[in-house]
Amino acid sequence: MGRISLQHIYKIYPGATEPAVKDFTLEIHDKEFVVFVGPSGCGKSTTLRMIAGLEEISKGDLYIDDRKVNKVEPKDRDIAMVFQNYALYPYMTVFQNMSFGLRLRKVPKKEIEQKVLKAAKILGIEEYLDRKPKALSGGQRQRVALGRAIVREPKVFLLDEPLSNLDAKMRAQMRTEIIKLHNELQTTFVYVTHDQTEAMTMGTRIVVMKDGVIQQVDTPDNLYDYPTNKFVAGFIGTPQMNFIDVTLIKENENTYATFGKNKVKLDEETVKRIKISDYNNHQFVLGIRPEDIYLEDEKATRENGLVEAKVKVLEKLGNEILVYTNCSGKDGELVFRSKPRTNIYEDDVISLRFDTKQIHLFDFNTEETILTR
Ligand code: ADP
Ligand code: MG
Repeated sequence: MGRISLQHIYKIYPGATEPAVKDFTLEIHDKEFVVFVGPSGCGKSTTLRMIAGLEEISKGDLYIDDRKVNKVEPKDRDIAMVFQNYALYPYMTVFQNMSFGLRLRKVPKKEIEQKVLKAAKILGIEEYLDRKPKALSGGQRQRVALGRAIVREPKVFLLDEPLSNLDAKMRAQMRTEIIKLHNELQTTFVYVTHDQTEAMTMGTRIVVMKDGVIQQVDTPDNLYDYPTNKFVAGFIGTPQMNFIDVTLIKENENTYATFGKNKVKLDEETVKRIKISDYNNHQFVLGIRPEDIYLEDEKATRENGLVEAKVKVLEKLGNEILVYTNCSGKDGELVFRSKPRTNIYEDDVISLRFDTKQIHLFDFNTEETILTR
């Protein structure tokens, strides 16, 4: 079993004014793949290191299965950790690197051999067992680091940005391999990354953090479609969600978002999801993802709800074009995805339609969502 229960965990580093981790409460289920994601310095590594026992817990309780482990030594927690810098011993062969921990623990030689071979097979590094780390590529070294963790057969794997040192192609490949590894080993994985793509593709559940505080714990799909606040909305997805300061206006049976010269009618289903009653004439932040904005042939007017925009920059990615525009009432750029080979050019004035089934609305001050799921 590899259940982890974090209950109101705090980390206050000596001399720091603010806790690095605040009131972190989370149940990690056995065999789950949980990802901690957030910008640099938000407390991901600190939390992981507290689980590993490498960092003291200032306040709160940590349980692994049913045992409280706040004061338990790292080596007695039945956990293996893999870091960004693989920390392999340069003078040892791959085999020796992988078997090092087992040898320390005086595991019989035969058993060591079996375990290393089995792990090497899973990771596809059997041919390299006699090589030294310097004769391996970055990806192969990272596999050895994983192998060293696997042979210990821990209840829980903790991985701290293990792919950061790899080039983009190798990173994508190792992503898939780690997912396969998780399926094969059937143990709990807790994976830390600052990269939202990595989080979205790997995690079955994602913990989004900011300033030491959990913002949202959810599946990748829910994070994308139902971000609980503006931070999560902006952090998940590239290019980023567009944010527009709008005033919501009720007219007859309809609700409109107005900004600058624009007046966009909101979809009825979306209006039903608004949690608060007195939104008429109040300011909110409207969020819309670049794929939920469409180019239209018609001329934009206030009556037809289309948004007039001026094209500033086209980013042609081959499979799509990212179009950066300016529009009335929106600070900064409004970006949308367009099909490849679309005939638009810089400085064109175009008409855009917002798919208002897909919009998000956030409180202007608290930045929390005002929509139900
Ligand atoms: P992340 O892994 O999300 O980038 P960290 O957990 O490493 O973030 O750091 C969280 C915060 O704690 C940061 O503000 C960092 O400067 C601070 N911090 C990390 N380690 C220490 C330490 N050993 N002593 C003091 N402050 C630290
Ligand atoms: Mg870190």
